[in-house]
Amino acid sequence: MVDYYEVLGVSRDATQEEIKKAFRRKARETHPDSNPGDPTAEQRFREAALAYEVLSDSQRRAAYDRGGQVEFGDLFSSFAGIDDLLSRFFGGGLGFGFGARPGPAAGADVGAAVELTLAEAASDTTREVRYRARMACSACGGEGAAPGHPAEICDRCGGRGSVRVTRQTFLGTAMTVAPCDKCRGRGRIITHACPQCGGAGAVADEVAVTVEIPAGVEDGARMRLTGRGSVGEPGGRPGDLYVEIRVVPDPRFERHGADLVHRVRLGIAEAALGTGLRVPSVDGEEIDIEVPPGTQPGTVFKLSRQGMPRLRRRGRGDLLVEVQVVVPTSLSPAQEEALRAFATAGPGSPGGSSRGRKRRGR
Ligand SMILES: [Zn+2]
Ligand SMILES: [Zn+2]
Repeated sequence: MVDYYEVLGVSRDATQEEIKKAFRRKARETHPDSNPGDPTAEQRFREAALAYEVLSDSQRRAAYDRGGQVEFGDLFSSFAGIDDLLSRFFGGGLGFGFGARPGPAAGADVGAAVELTLAEAASDTTREVRYRARMACSACGGEGAAPGHPAEICDRCGGRGSVRVTRQTFLGTAMTVAPCDKCRGRGRIITHACPQCGGAGAVADEVAVTVEIPAGVEDGARMRLTGRGSVGEPGGRPGDLYVEIRVVPDPRFERHGADLVHRVRLGIAEAALGTGLRVPSVDGEEIDIEVPPGTQPGTVFKLSRQGMPRLRRRGRGDLLVEVQVVVPTSLSPAQEEALRAFATAGPGSPGGSSRGRKRRGR
């Protein structure tokens, strides 16, 4: 036997409100309109409807809880049409918004990409974005009718675009609102199609829009520009434009959110004796830093607030300058002589001379 509580995903002591909520969610999930091409959706909808019919009625629920037989009308038999079930739940005024969705289709969403350098991403910037979308036809103003032959009001629906359908069901009369089939929900009939767009009211076109990109934007961020996508059918809302931001990597910096890492290579003498360095910043200005004598490999100098701006917040990240010490792989005779003199002049590191280490290793 099917567990109706499990079907709706509620506990055995669920309140009527919880059961109603759970069924609304299930019904939306399994409504055939939301699952085109899925033959199991109808079956799952039937199960959910049956479970709701039992659990929402206190007498039936009590009988079911006792393990008794629950009586139904033939609306819930597997032979009843799914349409009747749908109008029972969606046409009867429960307000799910399904089955009663006449009207023109919305326009499609479109995508575009913008490429920024890291420096450009470090300050507020504006870009002109070009993309292709369906735009209202200029010849007919988006109506789809040829000039001189305006669209006529649909005589079947009186221009509303929808018609009411009354059905007799198990629990009485159910009213369904359906899109008008004569005008396909548009409310108007085009007698002479516009020659430029063929009656569609829209043509594919290249569009330009100026996009403001906030400082600190990350690679891969997406911005949505509401209503900047393709136009819908006449009267339908337009789609949205999604702009993907690509921030081209800068070889001088490794980005970690708002912080930037810049790596410098120092020779052993510079690290040991100390030196001055000039490092780049993302704004283009160079910054002088002082490397003190005895700087170790991996030392990081933090330049506060020289990183990327924090997106939509105050402040900036830091610029971290990491020191790499490079040991020379080939020496000139003069360098070799100098290094030997250095080695014999005293211990080169706190651990003692290289000879001392060798001995310990044996
Ligand atoms: Zn046109
Ligand atoms: Zn109509």
